Amino acid sequence: MELQRQLWLLLLVMLTSTAAWAAPQIEIDEGPVDLTDFRIAYHVDDSEVLTYEQVRHLPFAEIDNKASLGTDAKVTWFKLVLTNATGVEQRLFVHLPHAYHVQSVEFYEERGGTLLRRERLDLNDSPVSDLMYRGTAVYPFTLSADQPTVFYLRSHSYSHQWFGIEVLDEYASRHTLVSVNFDIALMVGMLLALVFYNGLLYFATSRKENIFYSLYLISGLLWIALSYGLIANVFDVYGSHVFRLNISLITMPIFLLLFMMAIFETGKIYPAEHRWLQALIVLLVGNLGWGIYDIAAALKPASSLAALMMVVTFSVSISLYRKGNPLAKYFLIGHSFFVAFNIIAVLFYKGIIPVSYLSFHGVGIGIVLEALTLAFIISYRIRILENIRSSQEELKKQASTDPLTKLHNRRFFFSEADYLLDIAKSNQTPMSLLALDIDHFKTVNDTHGHACGDQVIIALARLLREHSREKDLIARFGGEEFVLLLPGVELVDAQRCAERVRTAAETLEVRSDTDKTVRITVSIGVAEISIGHEPIEAALGRADRALYVAKHSGRNRVSTDRPTLDTLQAV
Ligand code: GH3
Ligand code: MG
Ligand code: MG
Repeated sequence: MELQRQLWLLLLVMLTSTAAWAAPQIEIDEGPVDLTDFRIAYHVDDSEVLTYEQVRHLPFAEIDNKASLGTDAKVTWFKLVLTNATGVEQRLFVHLPHAYHVQSVEFYEERGGTLLRRERLDLNDSPVSDLMYRGTAVYPFTLSADQPTVFYLRSHSYSHQWFGIEVLDEYASRHTLVSVNFDIALMVGMLLALVFYNGLLYFATSRKENIFYSLYLISGLLWIALSYGLIANVFDVYGSHVFRLNISLITMPIFLLLFMMAIFETGKIYPAEHRWLQALIVLLVGNLGWGIYDIAAALKPASSLAALMMVVTFSVSISLYRKGNPLAKYFLIGHSFFVAFNIIAVLFYKGIIPVSYLSFHGVGIGIVLEALTLAFIISYRIRILENIRSSQEELKKQASTDPLTKLHNRRFFFSEADYLLDIAKSNQTPMSLLALDIDHFKTVNDTHGHACGDQVIIALARLLREHSREKDLIARFGGEEFVLLLPGVELVDAQRCAERVRTAAETLEVRSDTDKTVRITVSIGVAEISIGHEPIEAALGRADRALYVAKHSGRNRVSTDRPTLDTLQAV
């Protein structure tokens, strides 16, 4: 019972607190309204010098309390008429949640035709006035029980005039001011994580696309944090110094274009598209230079340049897709998100479409979605490069392998032998060679057929592998001739090894097609390489000579060549 009562109580508290948010306590322009959503009136001051006394006699046009008037409404006056609907005096607050992005705001509070109070907030000044709270301008006032309050607000923006005006009671005002900009923090956090990851990737791979991508992300997250008030909210900073960070809106497309050039290798593979991207970069760098000099002026054409950029990058990616680039498809998908959301945002900033969550957050959402797709492209590209690398390795392996026995071939033998010889030379370790040839192999072919001969060669190759160490180099030199290079082995041990191979070969049995047992013997020539005194070819010549001797002294035997003084020459 106790629990039930507490639950009812809790529900009651919740209901009354929501009612406090939504109750229409005031009327605006003689009509009851939602406190955060109503109509106001505005007047654009093209001269930028009108005073309160002058402007209050001029005509005002109707507009929503959250809107964008584009770049042509630098100085704008807003008029707000509030009538008390409760019959009781009320303590209320005018909020300007986007005040952080303007140069200055002036409040004129009027009752019964007389000016009660005026406040000017110059956001370039520091420290900023008490009326500024973490990006939001908050103006407290009392709405009398019987007389309406009229507000004139003068907003002086840097470039784009977008604003929001809310009237809140104390409870709602506190709630709004302490609430965290969670979605923006999440966007920035995601981008920041990608920046760190790509920074690490860059140190690991030194691929420039990772660095361009990171710089693109940094520009994007700076702009999101700045435009959506996170920087103002967290650091409590405003004004022209912070406004300079809008330069990120220009650097972002520059790094995106450089990223495209790197990832698609346009310079190498697609010269026509490369020139388009280059031309656009030149334009943007021009805009960047202007931005460093005068950011507010440079931002005016920035949205038109952004539109041009989208047309070019989109056309280029379609063209690359048509030409069969495997990454273009994904880039196109990611870029479509970016383009779609940015079109919405550009239309909003130009004052063509009304404010909504989407139109206001369009650029941010577009950047985050594109950033995620680009991250996927980077990982996909690593996979493509990995495939190319492994197929190149496969080709290299094929070029160095004997197809029948899968042993190394003569070409690989010589390149590897030189390398092993260098190691032996610097470590001063011995190294020996065996040259091996099957005895009377022609007879095997003639008696049992060529296919059976092949099986014998394969079986002997297996036997050689089984009788050698991991570090020995075994190669099929051609026909039924094999060479073994034994690092760290001197002549006596090489002779022993050759003898083991010879006796093992005697026991080798291969079944022919006609189910006959084929046996073979081998002759082996052994030579120890005189490290530092002869090249591999010379040592091989001596091993061959020893093999010749073995053949001529009856076959199925091991013969050794010892270097004589005249065969040795310094190398
Ligand atoms: P010797 O004892 O003097 O070495 O006599 P041999 O008959 O083995 O003579 P030789 O080494 O000159 O003959 C090599 C023969 O091996 C010639 C060729 O028909 C055969 N042969 C070469 N390559 C292959 C191969 O890939 N498969 C098969 N089945 N036979 C091969
Ligand atoms: Mg032979
Ligand atoms: Mg031979």
